[in-house]
Amino acid sequence: MGFPVSIEELRVGLDTRRAAIRGIDEELKRLKEQRETNELMADVLEGLMESWKHPDPGKYKDAYFFLSSDLKKRVVVRQFLAPGTKIYQNAEEWRSYDWSRPSRHGSFYFDGVPFYYPIIDVNDAGKIECPTCGQPQLVVEHYVQTYDSPEGDVWLKRQLIVCLDCDKITIHEKAVSDSRF
Ligand SMILES: [Zn+2]
Repeated sequence: MGFPVSIEELRVGLDTRRAAIRGIDEELKRLKEQRETNELMADVLEGLMESWKHPDPGKYKDAYFFLSSDLKKRVVVRQFLAPGTKIYQNAEEWRSYDWSRPSRHGSFYFDGVPFYYPIIDVNDAGKIECPTCGQPQLVVEHYVQTYDSPEGDVWLKRQLIVCLDCDKITIHEKAVSDSRF
């Protein structure tokens, strides 16, 4: 199939190339969306393991927490704690926390779960129906400072319905504030 020898063949060649470009663009869009979903899922999963370790969740890094069944309180899920993780039982024990221990990324982190997070079973964590499959799915609170300035800060808090059946994260509720929630 050499170079076109007529205007008709030239047109066919042009149409074929344009159709190929459209197909590739669609595929790239699909891949980009897939990449974003995976990235957000990875952030969420990591946050669920790590966010309780941060003294000021959301200040330096996106924080993700499961919620109580009434969706009002941040909780830590027992099943997702590494074996042997220290759990501070009460305020008194918590006050004895030694702040001189090693820091990570230049900031302090908690070596055990602070007493103020209820530790619950994953089955008891708050759920909302996924709008895609209609099944109750776990809800994760996303909390982060999105803007930091002397004039004012912006904090974002939103509830995400995380459905691994649909491989989809749906924003359920969103709120913005100029101070910590
Ligand atoms: Zn779903």
